[in-house]
Amino acid sequence: MDGIVIIGAGECGTRAAFALREAGYRGSVTLVGAEPHLPYERPPLSKPMNGAVQMKLICAKDALEAAGIDYLSGVSASKLDAGAGTVTLSDGRVRRYEKLLLATGARPRRLGCPGAERALDFRTHADAETVFSNVAAGQSVAIIGGGLIGMELAAVLRGKNVSVDVIEAAPKPLGRAVPARFAEKLHARHAAEGVRFHLGRGVVAVGDEGVTLTDGTLVPADLVVGAIGVLPETALAEAAGLAVDNGILTDSRLRTSVPNVFAAGDCAAVAQPAGGHIRHESWRNARAQAETAARNIAGAAETFAAIPWFWSDQYDLGLQVAGLPRPAHQSVVRPVAGGELAFYLDDGRLAAAAGLGIGNSLAKDIRLAEMLIAAGISPSPAALADPGVNLKVLLKSARAA
Ligand code: FAD
Ligand code: NAP
Repeated sequence: MDGIVIIGAGECGTRAAFALREAGYRGSVTLVGAEPHLPYERPPLSKPMNGAVQMKLICAKDALEAAGIDYLSGVSASKLDAGAGTVTLSDGRVRRYEKLLLATGARPRRLGCPGAERALDFRTHADAETVFSNVAAGQSVAIIGGGLIGMELAAVLRGKNVSVDVIEAAPKPLGRAVPARFAEKLHARHAAEGVRFHLGRGVVAVGDEGVTLTDGTLVPADLVVGAIGVLPETALAEAAGLAVDNGILTDSRLRTSVPNVFAAGDCAAVAQPAGGHIRHESWRNARAQAETAARNIAGAAETFAAIPWFWSDQYDLGLQVAGLPRPAHQSVVRPVAGGELAFYLDDGRLAAAAGLGIGNSLAKDIRLAEMLIAAGISPSPAALADPGVNLKVLLKSARAA
């Protein structure tokens, strides 16, 4: 059957299937997903509610049917023949496509040391069920990797009265995506909650007793979780001869190096106006790229230009980051009720903003900051730092100017 085939039924692939209909595409849409469930969201996995792992569906079965989306669950695409325009599925079926979207996401990076297989992954609903059903109050968990998953998981486990050790190869946790100021505050909060950190040390073995570090320390643990980042799922694309380099390479319209094949979400490295490619690993990016890719598949010629944004919940704290803060930026801090905002200026122009506060309390401020970033303005650092200057007023005057 010709039409549009989407490989990967995560946030990106599923959103793209619906966005194709919203863009007016009337042909057949096939959504192929390796996991055996209806499409579900990953962020709630590391943010359980009332102690239980959440299965937050992206859409109900009825919605897929109503939109005429042929959802093949528990089936993976095993071969892409871009010349013939076909995809071979794990159940032996071969699907022809007019256009294809690769939304294959990412998979956990694994340790290479002896006993590495004992470290549990944390990516899928099944992984979350395994971790949470195998640990109880009073037991101990060693988390390898002090990134977003490691720290969100540490917060949840401390809430369950589980003893937690975080092992991080870098000198500080959260060094990748979180601005240093807020990474330090979150680190301090975790330490105050009783999380023990082992920083600047790698892992040489995982065994019955726990995790042995490069300096010989044994970190005892009943359970070990590996959270050392992800690798883009590019095997299908690579075998089909598509250009790949830390992600499936696309142009600014999310087209891969092969005609009629698009890529989006965690698996895609997208061409940037200043050169090079960037791959993001966040929920909103997956949705935003899905929407642009779907419109382009349906005939538009849009450049993907959304401002990156992500959030993280740890204890009662909510972090939000918009744009890409860089150490070279001038940072300006604004105290706000229950937290703090920071703005990042690149040669005077507002390039990014971040906030850490109680729950979702800074969401409105970050939304306004995003609009200020999009407006491309160069606000005065004094105005940004002053909690008395309303961001809405700044935005209005920027727009008027
Ligand atoms: P994925 O979600 O990885 O989906 C890809 C799907 O494709 C998978 O289901 C996979 O099985 C399937 N697939 C792969 N290959 C094939 C194949 N050959 N055939 C068929 N199917 C295939 N982001 C935030 O911004 N904020 C958060 O708070 C946040 N929390 C997170 C918590 C956790 C525990 C995790 C794991 C991620 C979190 N993220 C968060 C990141 C966010 O969930 C991801 O960026 C997003 O899910 C990416 O969507 P995707 O569809 O591109 O990839
Ligand atoms: P991550 O955020 O990339 O963090 C991985 C951490 O592990 C990094 O600090 C990394 O340090 C460290 N590390 C790497 N190798 C190590 C080793 N051998 N020993 C000890 N530490 C090591 O990835 P993650 O936390 O595993 O999360 C996986 C994915 O889920 C990412 O895509 C993430 O964005 C997503 N996610 C997002 C959110 C959110 O946005 N709120 C929440 C959860 C998950 P280096 O950087 O120095 O390599």
